[in-house]
Amino acid sequence: MNILRFAVITAFFAVLPFSHIPAFAASYQKVKVFACEPEWAALAQEIGGDKVEAFSATSATQNPHYIRARPSLISKVRKADLLICSGASLEVGWLPVLLKKASSDLQPGSPGYLMAANLVTMLEVPVVVDRSMGDIHPEGNPHLHLNPYNLIIVGEVLADRLSEIDPGTASSYKNRFQDFSSRMQKAISRWESEAAELKGKQVVVHHKSFSYLIDWLGMKGVGALEPKPGIPPTASHLKNLLQQLRNSPADVIIRTPYDPAGASEWFSEKTGTRAVVLPYTIGGDSKSGDLFALFDRIIALLK
Ligand SMILES: [Zn+2]
Repeated sequence: MNILRFAVITAFFAVLPFSHIPAFAASYQKVKVFACEPEWAALAQEIGGDKVEAFSATSATQNPHYIRARPSLISKVRKADLLICSGASLEVGWLPVLLKKASSDLQPGSPGYLMAANLVTMLEVPVVVDRSMGDIHPEGNPHLHLNPYNLIIVGEVLADRLSEIDPGTASSYKNRFQDFSSRMQKAISRWESEAAELKGKQVVVHHKSFSYLIDWLGMKGVGALEPKPGIPPTASHLKNLLQQLRNSPADVIIRTPYDPAGASEWFSEKTGTRAVVLPYTIGGDSKSGDLFALFDRIIALLK
C-alpha cells in the first residue's frame, strides 16, 4: 500500500513539471503555416526552416481562383498558427469558408493573418469595378508572386509575424530572412541580365496570371485570350485579338499548367506564334522545385 502510494506520489511529482510544458512548448513545436498557394508555403519554409511546417492548400496544377473548401482543408486551417495567401480576392471563392472554421489567431487583424496583396504595389487596379462583368480581379491583379521583389517584401513581414507568434525563434527568422533576401537579390540581378533580351517582347496570355512577370522583365502584355479575367475565351474575342495583332504579332503566347490549352493552341496555329506553358508556381513542372528554380525555369522557357 505504502509502496503504491509512494509510486503514485512519485509519478504525480514526476509528471507535474511537464504539465506546465504546453505554456513553454510554443518555442519547441513547429509553427504550422497554412499557405493558400505553393509560392507562400515555399517562402514560409525559406524563412522558417525546420521551425516551420508549411502546407499549401492548392497545387501548381490547380487554379487558385477555384478550389473547393473541402473538409481536409478545414482540418488543416483549424490547426494552423499562421495563414498566408495572395489576397485581393484570389481566394474569395473558398477562403472565407475556411476562415469561419479557423481560430481567432487567424482572423483579419491578427499576426496570424497575412495577405501579400496588402503589402505590395498592385497592378491593374480597376478604376471602376463592375462585378456584373464577371471580372475576378476586382481589387487589382492578385498573381503578384511573379515579381521576385515582392517575395522579399512579403518575406520580411512574414519573418516579423513568425517572430510575434514564436518569439523564442525570432533571431533565427530574422537571420534566415536576411539570408533569403541577399540570395534573392543576387538571383534577381542574374535573372535581369539573362532576361535582358526579353525586354519589349510582346506577350499574349491566356489569363492575366503573368502581369507582374511581364512588368518586372519589361515585356509588353498585348492581350489576353480571356476577354476579362475569369471569362473563358470566346470566338469573337479571339478574332478581335487576331485582328488587333495583325500588323504587330505577339512574340509568345503563355499559359499556366492549369489553363485549358485550346485557345492558346488555336491562336498559335493562326499566328505562327509559339505557345508556351510556364510553371507559374512551385511544382509547375519537374524543374521548378523552389522559388529560385521557378524563376530560372520561367526565364529559360521564355528565352
Ligand atoms: Zn486571376
